Amino acid sequence: TYVIAEPCVDVVDRACVEECPVDCIYEGARSLYIHPDECVDCGACEPVCPVQAIYYEDDLPADLQPYLLDNADFFTLT
Ligand code: SF4
Repeated sequence: TYVIAEPCVDVVDRACVEECPVDCIYEGARSLYIHPDECVDCGACEPVCPVQAIYYEDDLPADLQPYLLDNADFFTLT
């Protein structure tokens, strides 16, 4: 799955939402989140993010690793 990390917080540009072919990017209070079970790993969202907030899960820098769980939690807690 792809993951939306810290740079999205309080930016929420939504360019990625337009690109996602399966509409699996959802809006929270301060950030967008990718549904890990719905994402088809197409990568279309990643280059259009103006703040480079989107990473493939295996490419998340160490300091952004918590966002993998953060994205998944958004869908189990809401
Ligand atoms: Fe949607 Fe593709 Fe991005 Fe997954 S990788 S969130 S399917 S645009």
